[in-house]
Amino acid sequence: MKFSQVIGHEEQKSLLRYSVDNDQLPHALLISGPSGIGKMTLARALAQYIHCTNRVNGDSCGKCPSCRQHQSLNNPDMHYVYPIVKKSSPKLTVSEDYLTEWIEFVEEDPMSPYERWLELMDAGNSQPMIYVDESAEILRKMHHSSFAAKHKIMLMWLPEKMNEEAANKLLKIIEEPFEDTKFIFVSNEPQAILPTIFSRTQRVNLKKLSPSEIALYLCSTYGIDENSALEIASISDGNVNVAVGNVSLSGETAEFRKIFQEMMRKAYMRDIRSLKDIADKIASMGREKNRRFLAYCASMVRENFIYNLQTPSLNCLNAEDRQFSSRFSPFINERNVEGLMTEINLAENDIARNANAKIVMFDFCIKLIILIKT
Ligand SMILES: [Zn+2]
Repeated sequence: MKFSQVIGHEEQKSLLRYSVDNDQLPHALLISGPSGIGKMTLARALAQYIHCTNRVNGDSCGKCPSCRQHQSLNNPDMHYVYPIVKKSSPKLTVSEDYLTEWIEFVEEDPMSPYERWLELMDAGNSQPMIYVDESAEILRKMHHSSFAAKHKIMLMWLPEKMNEEAANKLLKIIEEPFEDTKFIFVSNEPQAILPTIFSRTQRVNLKKLSPSEIALYLCSTYGIDENSALEIASISDGNVNVAVGNVSLSGETAEFRKIFQEMMRKAYMRDIRSLKDIADKIASMGREKNRRFLAYCASMVRENFIYNLQTPSLNCLNAEDRQFSSRFSPFINERNVEGLMTEINLAENDIARNANAKIVMFDFCIKLIILIKT
């Protein structure tokens, strides 16, 4: 991970770059800020920059042996610590127990959220933690001298998950670490870090990303056009993970919109044959997507009913929906709106109970024919 691959945070990058270049990087650095803004990517870029043997233009080269080891997560002078759940019969409870999952987590998507980590660990209802065994392991590693680099780096993700026993064991080494050791802590909730640890760190606080920074990431990662990217970014609260979720939803919403409009047109035309095809198509999407489609139908029925009230502030329709609604909304009225919502709910319940989706959806289409004429 190079600085140039980290979205935004230019000021903090310059500060960190300057500290490394001038040998002024604190021995215990805390990178904090809200979730989904790329704190881990910045921490990894910093670590790679510290170790790079051929820095160019204020960035790591990405090509030297050290950089390549960083990219494949196996640099011998780089140690990762992260919260884990206890395995059934471990000798020790340390991060390395989940090394495979960790590599998958980091490689899959550098911006992955904590929830994804829980999934990969199969955490169930257990609360992940950094256990006291981990502190012993950190001390053991710190006592070894570094392999190739001048500094060993200990990157701890989510120090707020460290239990008190583990923290107490680390206090001394964080306060007076060996000359060749740098600690980088990455925290979503710095206020939840034990004060004894927190007070021993120097903080770099990252802010939420701007819509244009998120849009740039969406364009380069998902190849979506600039306008859609900006639209999605503006409703993502500065959080890349929320934005990514909105990207997949936006694709799905477009698909649902097309099917919904087609279904309503055919219902109005009493075109049973086409409705059968549409019902089959919806059924083939799978149970969960069927349920999301029905939820979309419910929101459209509601929106079109409101559209008739001529109060735009109550509507959440985009340009394409509005165009359709200008013609379709008169067909949703006080005589059929309740019936339509009831049918959507019934279909949703049937699908949830694993009924045959083709039959449920075709039945729903027939009800639409009757209700749309009411
Ligand atoms: Zn390099």
